[in-house]
Amino acid sequence: MTLTAKNWQTEAALRMLRNNLDPAVAERPEDLVVYGGSGKAARNQASYDAIVRCLTTLENDETLLVQSGKPVGVLRTHEWAPRVLIANSNLVGDWATWPEFRRLEAMGLTMYGQMTAGSWIYIGTQGILQGTYETFAAVAEKRFGGTLAGTLTVTAGLGGMGGAQPLAVTMNDGVALVVECDPARAQRRLETRYLDELASDVDDAIARVTEAKKRRVPLSVGVIGNAAEVLPELLRRGVEVDIVTDQTSAHDPLAYLPIGVDVADWHDYAAAKPDEFTDRSRESMAAHVDAMLGFLDRGAEVFDYGNSLRSEAKAGGCERAFDYPGFVPAYIRPLFCEGKGPFRWAALSGDPADIAATDRAVLELFPENESLARWIRMAGERVAFQGLPARICWLGYGERHLAGLRFNEMVERGELKAPVVIGRDHLDAGSVASPYRETEAMADGSDAIADWPLLNALVNTASGATWVSIHHGGGVGMGRSIHAGQVCVADGTPLAAQKLERVLTNDPGMGVLRHVDAGYERAAEVADERGVRIPMREQ
Ligand code: NAD
Repeated sequence: MTLTAKNWQTEAALRMLRNNLDPAVAERPEDLVVYGGSGKAARNQASYDAIVRCLTTLENDETLLVQSGKPVGVLRTHEWAPRVLIANSNLVGDWATWPEFRRLEAMGLTMYGQMTAGSWIYIGTQGILQGTYETFAAVAEKRFGGTLAGTLTVTAGLGGMGGAQPLAVTMNDGVALVVECDPARAQRRLETRYLDELASDVDDAIARVTEAKKRRVPLSVGVIGNAAEVLPELLRRGVEVDIVTDQTSAHDPLAYLPIGVDVADWHDYAAAKPDEFTDRSRESMAAHVDAMLGFLDRGAEVFDYGNSLRSEAKAGGCERAFDYPGFVPAYIRPLFCEGKGPFRWAALSGDPADIAATDRAVLELFPENESLARWIRMAGERVAFQGLPARICWLGYGERHLAGLRFNEMVERGELKAPVVIGRDHLDAGSVASPYRETEAMADGSDAIADWPLLNALVNTASGATWVSIHHGGGVGMGRSIHAGQVCVADGTPLAAQKLERVLTNDPGMGVLRHVDAGYERAAEVADERGVRIPMREQ
């Protein structure tokens, strides 16, 4: 396979940057926007071109520095050092607000990196599909006897992340009604088979989902409309809803469509009058959340899906917005205590057969893990790849490095056609401080302590990751989170094996020790069983 760069480590970064902006992957590649409202891969076209130029010429003892999507330096380091170090959207505490961020962005000084957009490891909607599948499986376990069969989930948003919701619900055998205001977004999810059907209007949607719920057959139905109008309408009509959540881009008030604004006027209006637009979208979010609370009061399982809808609705006047929990404390934290989180990989060959081979390897490595096996099989059958073929599954401490080493061996033996990149979302066990999401309601009250993601980035840098990033804002918006990411390359060399073993042990290890520190018993058990050293527990 011909390389454009000088080695596979930098070739990997180059291919993943390009992949993030592949029209089959990115939401708005012409603006360098990958997903999540305004999450970008590079600050502007000139920066993108310069990053490509640097990655093409970078030596294996050099490191490229990227400051909010702009390449700002190439430094001499060593071969264990990351080839790229990235910092995106970081602002000093008191300045970390949307108006200040936008002012600086308009001056060309920064960009919004989201999580995997600015750190070049977005793999399309599949990335969130696994997390969403896990979350709905946990909801099923908690409230509905282990299956969503015969239940109706109402949610909104069919964008890059939110588009995973309908398939995650049907994979758990449930029925989903998803409200989306932009017909083009809904159409795209139909084409990629994440959404089964599009209803012609709310009446049609209600008829279809009610019938499917009654017959206990999995079905997802999209409907075009504004969530802040459709949800109150469903409540008024007394539709029997079992689960309610939301994945509109509520973290950024300019990316949430207010009631009474046409999709066609949206972006011009938001750009021309951001303050007025923000007030209107927050008011609409308050109406949206009021309806969600109405369903909560009727006994539905309601949760926030990490998009800051509750805080924005509160700013819009909804006093009870925080009456329902975020999904992490409700369902995910026990997994974080085991260092479990979204482990993902992409085949740099572009050949789906490489992912099929790695799928088989994962099934062989963890034969006792039934839910993992169920996911890998269903994903193989039902997930359409976007851009480079990729796979995601949740693995924990003591597991991830086994997969990494196996993939590296497969590359070495020629069982795969090219190297594989291994990375993760920033949403992981020990890599985020985000009081409305990953660290909401920590047992010791340490929700806003942001030393952990910084230590995580330093640990991954010290352990041999190929690129490492520190971002601010991510999925919940400015002022609300700090998070870190890492990507390693399994290029089949002995050096890669050494790096993979360290990074893929230490990175989830941060999740275990962060939760031990916060006082979680399960994390302490995992540390004891699997040998994670915690100084304050040693005599
Ligand atoms: P996106 O911008 O690609 O999609 C958002 C969708 O919401 C768009 O299609 C938009 O048309 C639609 N929308 C906006 N206002 C609406 C309204 N009033 N009614 C109906 N539809 C409306 O964003 P995304 O990548 O899908 O992310 C969605 C949200 O989830 C973001 O806030 C993101 O930060 C957050 N997020 C959560 C997680 C998680 O772990 N749960 C992970 C990543 C991102």
